Amino acid sequence: MIEHGKTLVHAETNNDRVVVGFSDGTTARGDILVGADGLRSTVRYLIDPGAPAPRATGLGYTFGVAPNAWACT
Ligand SMILES: Cc1cc2nc3c(=O)[nH]c(=O)nc-3n(C[C@H](O)[C@H](O)[C@H](O)COP(=O)(O)OP(=O)(O)OC[C@H]3O[C@@H](n4cnc5c(N)ncnc54)[C@H](O)[C@@H]3O)c2cc1C
Repeated sequence: MIEHGKTLVHAETNNDRVVVGFSDGTTARGDILVGADGLRSTVRYLIDPGAPAPRATGLGYTFGVAPNAWACT
């Protein structure tokens, strides 16, 4: 089941199951918790609060389309 509009705020294990809490006060249980909540992942923080925070590395990139790719070396 997929539910939209939920914000996860809490997670814990209970009898080998995962119990998560949402900002609206509801909870859900499951066998595993998959964190796919982006760069500043709440799930990642809940699992490991001491993990390094994301940081800018200074790396950048530029891309485009060339009319004649064979002319590029
Ligand atoms: C301006 C900009 C331009 C970009 N351009 C490109 C590009 O051209 N090509 C490219 O490859 N990449 C690009 N990226 C990077 C790309 O957007 C990310 O790498 C990619 O979206 C990461 O996907 P994700 O699924 O890990 O996280 P996200 O796409 O960030 O998805 C995370 C989801 O989790 C939700 N969420 C967060 N916290 C919670 C919570 N507590 N409870 C419930 N849900 C939550 C969020 O609402 C969001 O829907 C760009 C990024 C930005 C900001």
